[in-house]
Amino acid sequence: MSTDPVRLSQDLDEVRDVTVIGGGPVGMCTAFWAGMREASARIIDSLPELGGQLTTLYPEKWIYDVPGHPKVLARDLVEMLRVQSLEQFDVPAHLNTTAERISWEGEGEERVIVLHTDRGELRSRTVIVAGGHGAFEPKKLPGYDMTPWEGRGAHYIVGSKAVFSGKRVMIVGGGDSACDWVINLLDTASEVSLVHRREGFRAHELTVGQVMQAAARGDLALHVPFQIKEVHGDGNIERVVLFHSENEDSEVEVEVDAILLQLGFKTALGPLKDWGFEVVKGAIAVDQVMKTSLERVWACGDITTFEGKLKLIATGFAESAIAVAQAVHELRPEMKIQPKYSTNTGVPGAVAGQP
Ligand SMILES: Cc1cc2nc3c(=O)[nH]c(=O)nc-3n(C[C@H](O)[C@H](O)[C@H](O)COP(=O)(O)OP(=O)(O)OC[C@H]3O[C@@H](n4cnc5c(N)ncnc54)[C@H](O)[C@@H]3O)c2cc1C
Repeated sequence: MSTDPVRLSQDLDEVRDVTVIGGGPVGMCTAFWAGMREASARIIDSLPELGGQLTTLYPEKWIYDVPGHPKVLARDLVEMLRVQSLEQFDVPAHLNTTAERISWEGEGEERVIVLHTDRGELRSRTVIVAGGHGAFEPKKLPGYDMTPWEGRGAHYIVGSKAVFSGKRVMIVGGGDSACDWVINLLDTASEVSLVHRREGFRAHELTVGQVMQAAARGDLALHVPFQIKEVHGDGNIERVVLFHSENEDSEVEVEVDAILLQLGFKTALGPLKDWGFEVVKGAIAVDQVMKTSLERVWACGDITTFEGKLKLIATGFAESAIAVAQAVHELRPEMKIQPKYSTNTGVPGAVAGQP
C-alpha cells in the first residue's frame, strides 16, 4: 500500500480491469466489489491517507447510520474498509497520487484508458470515479488573516483529539461541524469556548441543545455574536481579542492555546472538471447504472448526481456495487450483472496471504 515508489513503478506496467479514483469509503468499497467479481483493481488518491472525508474531516466522530453498525468511529470504519478491500485482494493503493488527465488508446480488446497522474501513467480497461467532493479545502476566516497562526495553534481539521488534550480551545463557526466539535472536545480540552458571528446556529437541533446545555452548566464559554479582532502570542497562540458583531467597541479577551476554525469547506472537482464529464452543480451526472458520459467510465459516491441522489456512505456503497457490476459486465459480457450471493461463494477473488 501507500506511497511505495517500487509498487507504483511495477503497477505502471500493468493493465488492470479497474482503476478507482479516490480512496474514500466509497472508493475502498469499489475495490472490494471489484475483488468479489474477480476483477483486478487499483486505487489512487491525492491525499496521503486512505479514508477521504472520514479521515480528513471527522476521524474521531461517531457515525450512526451505516447499517450493521449501531455506532462506529469514522476512523474505525476506514480501517475496517481497508481490511475488507485491500487486505483480502491484490489492490495496490497509490497515495499522494492525483489523476490529472484521461485519454484512451488502442482498439477492440486492446482498448485501454490511460490515467495521467502526477506520478506517471496508469492503464486500465475501465475507470470508476469515487472522487467525493474532489479536491476540498477549508474556508478561511473572513475579516482576519489567520495564515500566520497556521501551525502555531490555528487548526482547520481535527486529525486526532489528542492534539487538543488539556488545552484551552476556541472553536469558531456556527454550523454542524463547529457545534459537533464543541461536544466532542468537552472531555479532551481543559476549556472550550465557541465564537459565532451571528445569533443562532445552523446546526442540528439536538446538537444545538447540547451546546446550550454545556454553556448553562458552565462547561462552555459562548461568545455570540462575536468575531475575532486580534490574535496574540509569543510563538503560539496565547490570547484572542473578540469584538461584538453589532458594536465593535465592545471587546472581550480570551486566553486560549488553540483555535479550531470550522467554517465549512470549499469543494471543487479539481482536474476532473476538464475531462468532458457532464457536470451538474459541481457533480458528475450519471445514469441509473452509474455510467458517466465518458467511454468506460463509471462514478459513485459523493461525486455523482442523479434524481433522488443521497450523499451518504450507505448509498455510496450501493452505488459502487452497481458501478462495478456494470464495468465487469462490459469487460466480460458472459458475467451476469447480478452477483452471486457471498453466502454461497465466500470471497472468490481473495488472494491467499495478501498482506
Ligand atoms: C462532518 C461530516 C460528517 C458526516 N457524517 C456522515 C454520517 O454520519 N453518515 C454518512 O453516511 N455520511 C456522513 N458524511 C458524508 C460522508 O463523509 C460522505 O458521504 C463520504 O465521505 C463520501 O465518500 P466518497 O468515498 O464518495 O468521497 P470522499 O470521502 O470525499 O473521498 C473521495 C476521495 O477522492 C480523492 N480524489 C478526488 N479527486 C481526485 C483525483 N483527481 N485524483 C486522486 N484522488 C482524488 C480525494 O482526495 C478523497 O480522498 C459526513 C460528512 C462530513 C463532512
